[in-house]
Amino acid sequence: MTKFIFVTGGVVSSLGKGIASASIGCLLESRGLKVTLQKFDPYINVDPGTMSPFQHGEVFVTDDGAETDLDLGHYERFTSATMTQDNNVTTGQIYYAVIMKERRGDYLGGTVQVVPHITDEIKDSICRLANKGNFDVVITEIGGTVGDIEGQPFLEAIRQIPYDVGRENVLYVHLTLVPFIRAASELKTKPTQHSVRTLREIGVQPDILLCRTERRFDEATRAKIALFCNLNVDAVFQAVDVDEIYEVPLLFTQQGLDDMILKCLHLPVTKHNLTEWKNLIDRIRLLQESVTIGVVGKYVHLQDAYKSIYESLRHGGFANDVKIKIERIDSETLTADRLDQILGGVDGILIPGGFGTRGIEGKIRAAGYAREHGIPFLGICLGMQCAVIEFARSVCGLEGANSTEFDTDTRYPVIDLLESQKDVKDLGGTMRLGAYPCRLQPGTKVAEVYGAEQIHERHRHRFELNNQFRKVFEEKGMVVSGIYEESNLVEIVELRGHPWFVACQFHPEFKSRPLNAHPLFRGFIKAAKRWSATRQRTEQAQVTATEQE
Ligand code: GLN
Repeated sequence: MTKFIFVTGGVVSSLGKGIASASIGCLLESRGLKVTLQKFDPYINVDPGTMSPFQHGEVFVTDDGAETDLDLGHYERFTSATMTQDNNVTTGQIYYAVIMKERRGDYLGGTVQVVPHITDEIKDSICRLANKGNFDVVITEIGGTVGDIEGQPFLEAIRQIPYDVGRENVLYVHLTLVPFIRAASELKTKPTQHSVRTLREIGVQPDILLCRTERRFDEATRAKIALFCNLNVDAVFQAVDVDEIYEVPLLFTQQGLDDMILKCLHLPVTKHNLTEWKNLIDRIRLLQESVTIGVVGKYVHLQDAYKSIYESLRHGGFANDVKIKIERIDSETLTADRLDQILGGVDGILIPGGFGTRGIEGKIRAAGYAREHGIPFLGICLGMQCAVIEFARSVCGLEGANSTEFDTDTRYPVIDLLESQKDVKDLGGTMRLGAYPCRLQPGTKVAEVYGAEQIHERHRHRFELNNQFRKVFEEKGMVVSGIYEESNLVEIVELRGHPWFVACQFHPEFKSRPLNAHPLFRGFIKAAKRWSATRQRTEQAQVTATEQE
């Protein structure tokens, strides 16, 4: 029998419901349970694929080609679960399915209503996922906060679930905020009381409260929260702010959260195995040395737009025993005269994926700077396309070379629309999406770091390297190190004679894990660490030389 955990949030958004859910998943996995996680997003978009990074943050891509909420990235990084189309469900998808059924006549003349038709469709999406993988536990996170109008059908659906599967198989976890009010020098429990009351008004009594708080609170506060929220005091847990997100599972288990979950769900309380996780945290705490990576993008001022990239860089750091300092560089500020000033001090340059013309020339300049100065470089998707454009213009003499995404009339369309995209009209879900195999060229840097000949990586793009120019690129020192053989698509390139200049058409950041850094990030950070040491030695030599003069 599958057990169901529902994670709701209250008071404010951004409390870290995704990380809390992922951490619960991690702890239950450490008890030997087979776990999956699911996110409900109450917006009407069918998926976040068409949403602006300003609205939504990163779009996380699954192996099976779903464009999903970034919380699915946390789920995959904290657990071994593989996310799929069924792990992210939006209001848009639910209504779409119901309307299709109505048009087919499936409702046999009945009036189609939010209850029971929409709520049934929501419950079906939970059960479909549960049945798919024989999971012991399905953790479903409900996006937004209790009280949001658009979240109501989802909350109503999870209220009904115990009647379908039995109350003993359901657990409600509610994450709230216990703010510290500086003027009064006090932690306040009232917002939590109100949030739980709102949840109870719709018929959901939380079993466990996770209280996000800036500072640890005392037993009296805990008892007060319990009393007002109709809970036992031992069901109130603290989610104290931490610097290191991978520490959250450990903070939860120290308070006995996983024991409590197992008891509530009538699951055997077995011993957990968190050794690897604990070792990781111990190692992170001891990190001294650091490398600085310049991330050159359009959305560097947003917290969440490059979430998986920032995490993958850190994983690469864990694997190489260095802390990562990220220099967020707005590509629009990267004019030719400012390159030395902005990029002169970084140990590695990364250009992430992106769309549209704005800021593109700055990215191209950054790729050129990395190439010329031997600075370790990792280009991802649009980042690879920029590196190719730069190489075409500067090394191959193809003046004005461009991607047809930015200049439809360019004389040298070195990046061009994929053949399969030529008839595509709709924007939603129509890119080349998800995992494809890629064959690596033996003897290349990339083949060495992967230690494999065949890899699978996730994609999200419409444009590709134009094969007409491949010959001239290869003659000039650009090595094609990975190919999607079925349509002879260039998936990875690297530069001969450069310490580490690697660019890929896919998104390696979606497959990196804290305990198992992605090979490209591991290799990139290793090269950055080496570059940093060289740079420091050169600087030191210069200082000594000046002193001797
Ligand atoms: N805009 C480019 C394309 O569609 C790159 C996409 C990306 O970086 N994800 O091919």
